[in-house]
Amino acid sequence: MTAPLPAASRLPLRDELRGLEPYGAPQLDVPVLLNVNENPYPPSDAVVAEIAAAVADAARGLNRYPDRDFAALRADLATYLGVESGVRPRPDQVWAANGSNEVMLHLLQAFGGPGRTALSFAPTYSMYPEYARDTSTRWVAGRRADDFTLDLEHVRAQVAEHQPSVILLASPNNPTGTALPLDEVEEVLDAADGVAGGCVVVVDEAYGEFRRAGTPSALELLERHPSLAVSRTMSKAFGLAGARVGYLVADRSLVDALRVVRLPYHLSAVTQAVARAALAHSAALMAQVGSLRDERDATVAWLRSRGLTVADSDANFVLFGTFDDRHAVWQGLLDRGVLIRETGPRGWLRVSIGTPEEMAAFRAALVEVAQL
Ligand SMILES: *Cc1c(COP(=O)(O)O)cnc(C)c1O
Repeated sequence: MTAPLPAASRLPLRDELRGLEPYGAPQLDVPVLLNVNENPYPPSDAVVAEIAAAVADAARGLNRYPDRDFAALRADLATYLGVESGVRPRPDQVWAANGSNEVMLHLLQAFGGPGRTALSFAPTYSMYPEYARDTSTRWVAGRRADDFTLDLEHVRAQVAEHQPSVILLASPNNPTGTALPLDEVEEVLDAADGVAGGCVVVVDEAYGEFRRAGTPSALELLERHPSLAVSRTMSKAFGLAGARVGYLVADRSLVDALRVVRLPYHLSAVTQAVARAALAHSAALMAQVGSLRDERDATVAWLRSRGLTVADSDANFVLFGTFDDRHAVWQGLLDRGVLIRETGPRGWLRVSIGTPEEMAAFRAALVEVAQL
């Protein structure tokens, strides 16, 4: 008689999920955390008090389901974007979810799916293929040029060959920090317009607020391109990664499609309250964005002065290298209490921008480990 299989191996797990590990950067307890592009500055006591008061208020109504369409939050996000970018969408052009990760999932649920293709250009955000997998969307990774910009001829060829229904472009890109000029985004939009069944182009501006002066936002293109969606998050510049609030701006018809696939009441009353209180204090929460940008530019300059290769960055992190044994460098930094990220093309490492003290610790450790 054969022994019965252990219960776990009899679970009807989808074939494409077998043997997979959940995504996530290592969460290690070390003094200097520069690995997941968080804002190193927590909210001030004054903002914490405002958020706590808003949550208390929301708590009084927690016997009821929240506003399913979060009208007030959408209006606040539209106002914020008007100030940040000069482009003020209508509230019905705004969508929000628990992190821009969930916004992306909504996009692929609505516009991807079995028999459809999502296209992106590597190296880029390592979560994208997971959203595709989870929605049974075929995933195609084209490539970026050696300087991490888009090779438009390659883009056009990939779009023509694969006829994607979704194209994902991170700008500033993660892990490279590279922002796309708007004329390149428009070239991609033109190529997407040639897809017979239609194609949504998503520009992921998770790091948009860190862009250098003169780098425009794809929000400026929305009016002329109904198949464009621009996503943003409160996780990075706002310093609210723990609140889980991401959002998107697009033509109203695109947003209406996302309303169909979202779970009812996906944004809790507590989340809505936290986000609105934070938006009311966006200036205070984002007070450090300017100094983070300066620290970023100084980090790029310092790494270059030490003979390293560094990608231009419009984000709050820097990709640098190249090392024959990047893992040894990563480990050496960790041994000195500095956690960065081993990601991107072979030989490169990524460091998030922290406080001046944290960056000093990073520089001191790197000089020792890489013998700069
Ligand atoms: C950090 C990051 C996000 C943000 O995800 P949230 O779910 O909003 O925290 C989105 N896109 C990219 C490329 C990122 O690096």
